[in-house]
Amino acid sequence: MRIGLLNIGDELLLGKTLNTNAFDLAGWLGELGHELVFTLAIEDREDVIAGVLRDVMAGVAGIGALPRCEKLLLTGGLGPTRDDLTRGAVAGFLDVPLEYNSEAEGWLAERLGVKPEAISESQRQQLYVPRGTLPLRNPAGSACGFSFELNGVSLFAFPGVPSEFRAMFDLHCRPSWQRGDAVLMRKRIFTFGLAESRQRELLRGFATPEPFRFSSLPSESGVAIALEAFVANAEVETQKVLLESAWKELLSLLPAESIVDLGGATLPQTVFHLLRERDATVSVAESCTAGAVGYLLTEIPGSSQTFKQGYLTYANEAKTLLLGVKEDLLKSRGAVSEAVALAMANGCREAANTDYAVAITGIAGPEGGTPEKPVGLVYIAVCSQKGAEVRRFQFRGDRKSIRWSSAYAALNQLRLFIINDLRKV
Ligand code: AMP
Ligand code: MG
Repeated sequence: MRIGLLNIGDELLLGKTLNTNAFDLAGWLGELGHELVFTLAIEDREDVIAGVLRDVMAGVAGIGALPRCEKLLLTGGLGPTRDDLTRGAVAGFLDVPLEYNSEAEGWLAERLGVKPEAISESQRQQLYVPRGTLPLRNPAGSACGFSFELNGVSLFAFPGVPSEFRAMFDLHCRPSWQRGDAVLMRKRIFTFGLAESRQRELLRGFATPEPFRFSSLPSESGVAIALEAFVANAEVETQKVLLESAWKELLSLLPAESIVDLGGATLPQTVFHLLRERDATVSVAESCTAGAVGYLLTEIPGSSQTFKQGYLTYANEAKTLLLGVKEDLLKSRGAVSEAVALAMANGCREAANTDYAVAITGIAGPEGGTPEKPVGLVYIAVCSQKGAEVRRFQFRGDRKSIRWSSAYAALNQLRLFIINDLRKV
């Protein structure tokens, strides 16, 4: 199916709100096997909304620049405030009046736990729909949506609040949009520490088998590598064999250490499982990431079984007082140094009494760099009862990117340390 999306809201065009609804929908449709053929973010203006709806219909008729679609989703502008104009704009486009909907009134009364008469005047503004359209229940908020068919296109108007948009998509679209004729077949892993240029060289001889598509998506959390395709039900068994063997070949071409988890788990998931399997605990001492490592280590539910505590030691005095880092060492080597990273990790493990400890010290910038210690220089140390290891990194990018790259690199270093630590036994 071909789907179009109109995101209505001034805030999207003024740099105040990131259009996560477009991002989310693209992901959901990809998983469902449908095609998002356009997204348009437009102003909260009745004439603009109605004009774009006319353009969409022109696209359906094969005129104009907008691609033809079978479904059109609208988000935003259904709330009670004066900048919420979508209901009136659609009514104007359809040339019908807005009508109060008593079914929607019942939903809202139930949601608020009050009698229908007790609903305030401003809340009632969200219960009007253009005459002849179908009101849609909003399980996550007070503004009802609506849908209708026009020239073979099904239109759905949903609220802009992301949690409400998701809830309404799940209720009103997802169930009937499941494809019965095909399934998504996908293999995916994350790699970490393997440059994309190197990956390209390693995979030079690898041929992606039809109908699968290869993707390599880098981010601070690693590179997501996938082979995927929508496969007709009748072909699933045959394609499964093809996918398995292609995937096996692809994995064999990548360095084993760079693969975060063969089952496709993320770095935080993998580290959590490694710790759980060993019944081990971890603590952190962070200087340039201010808790980001702790945040990632506690991302998975149940992580309080593995994560004991963290220290945010920015000042030298804090490193000395809480982690026992010697003043002399800080003076002679500087806070951003291999020796201090190691001392932080060892001190952290001792103070927190954990099996493993991770320490980070670095220069996130944009100020504070010197020729010897430039912005992006980060030392990460990991230790256990059996020993310690420190690595030096030189990250690029802005402060945010350096901090997240450091945090994920720390998780990866912990992952490798745990695996290798055990091999030594
Ligand atoms: P609305 O439904 O237009 O009243 O929007 C309510 C709030 O939802 C806005 O203030 C935004 O913070 C958020 N919002 C609206 N549209 C989007 C969108 N496309 N993506 C993410 N957030 C949005
Ligand atoms: Mg709005």
